[in-house]
Amino acid sequence: MYRTGFGYDLHRLVSGRRLVLGGVEIPHELGLLGHSDADIVLHAVCDALLGAAGLGDIGEHFPDTDARFKDADSRELMRQTLRMTLDAGYEPVNVDVVIHAERPKLREHKPAIRAALAELLGIDATAVGVKATTNEGLDAIGRGEAMACSATALLRARKTR
Ligand code: MG
Repeated sequence: MYRTGFGYDLHRLVSGRRLVLGGVEIPHELGLLGHSDADIVLHAVCDALLGAAGLGDIGEHFPDTDARFKDADSRELMRQTLRMTLDAGYEPVNVDVVIHAERPKLREHKPAIRAALAELLGIDATAVGVKATTNEGLDAIGRGEAMACSATALLRARKTR
């Protein structure tokens, strides 16, 4: 039995913050503002898994009002989300991600993000899609004021023995 899920996240770009995408630090003069490390890729993938597994959303499990998640490494949120997904009886088959960003160019960073996601999820890199697109200079993303990520995940029921 298969389940599909979708996730989306957006954070504001500001100076004085690190830019972390899929657990990979990207050299850039701006970073994403948030309570945690504001890793939009991992947040979107977490929501895709949670949605597919019928487990709600990332804000319910890791509220940004909780001091425990201040400056949290989102890789840890991803690991906990995977654990909840497995406990619910599902395992990831593949994930597919679109990063919406005007700058920086992400082409050279996509292989590292893909490898990091594959390792975190325990799946082969061939089962991880990482794509990037600009917003053609339109809206807040296009003006470079924010960055967003969309993600889908396919889960299958785990074998019981
Ligand atoms: Mg977020």
